[in-house]
Amino acid sequence: MIKVTFWGTRGSIATPGRKTARYGGNTSCVELRAAGQVFVFDAGTGIRELGLRLEQEFKSKPLTLHLFVSHTHWDHIQGFPFFLPAYHEKNQIFVYGPAGRDKSLDEILRIQMDSDYFPVELGDMKAKISVNEIRDRFSIEGVTVEPFYLNHPAMTFAYRLSDRKQTVIYATDNEPYRYSLHQRPNASLDKSDFPDYLDQKFVEFLANADLLIGEAQYTIKEYQTKKGWGHSPIESLVEFAWRARVKKLALFHHDPLHDDKAVDKMVKHAQRLARVRGGNMKCVGAFEGMKIVVGKADRKRKS
Ligand SMILES: [Zn+2]
Ligand SMILES: [Zn+2]
Repeated sequence: MIKVTFWGTRGSIATPGRKTARYGGNTSCVELRAAGQVFVFDAGTGIRELGLRLEQEFKSKPLTLHLFVSHTHWDHIQGFPFFLPAYHEKNQIFVYGPAGRDKSLDEILRIQMDSDYFPVELGDMKAKISVNEIRDRFSIEGVTVEPFYLNHPAMTFAYRLSDRKQTVIYATDNEPYRYSLHQRPNASLDKSDFPDYLDQKFVEFLANADLLIGEAQYTIKEYQTKKGWGHSPIESLVEFAWRARVKKLALFHHDPLHDDKAVDKMVKHAQRLARVRGGNMKCVGAFEGMKIVVGKADRKRKS
């Protein structure tokens, strides 16, 4: 069983306010509990609240936590300086992610906490923090985590986390190659099938996931003026997830310009698209505080 909690579901920049209160204004952060371990995807502003919750839960007990950074754009790391468990000597935090283009992951995280930007430096945080650049699949207590490079204007990983029975994939900030390599939204106008080959590799990475936390920032119409920004129109996300036989798709990384009503519309649109394609894939809109227990329904069915 994998327990998933969403602490931040917004993309690009924190978007507080009444109009975004239902889906939430905090940027990317998702907690997963599997095999007795604490895993976290991304350290956007949502990680601050997660930190407060972990403080209550662990109190004086040591906490070991595995933080997987998809990439180092602000909306995926900006909450880390405010993550209270990183300030206690008793805690151990393993950070994993891709190397940057011309800086190491460690360097990038240090730079965001340079005294010009923040009063406490990374090295002054008291927890044991180890920053690890990864490229390949590895295991932690029987839970495997596999990274996969996405198409985004920074070195960016999706992660496939599996406890042998269930699989959760976190794939945010990804532009379909079929559009970005052609710079036009109609793949059929291009003779080359190379972009489709690359998109197919992504579909294969998603194969049979129980839960896909997938980026759905734009509609195809909005996407027309945002090409090259590294984000997905909802139509391709649903198509890829459907082709990969994903069981449940959580729409994630909501655009700052989309208020709750707009996200509701996106979710309904995605559900309609999935229905038209057929099959049993469920689509939900990820909101701050949402919990999904992956594997619970299967257990019920067996008993
Ligand atoms: Zn982002
Ligand atoms: Zn990004």
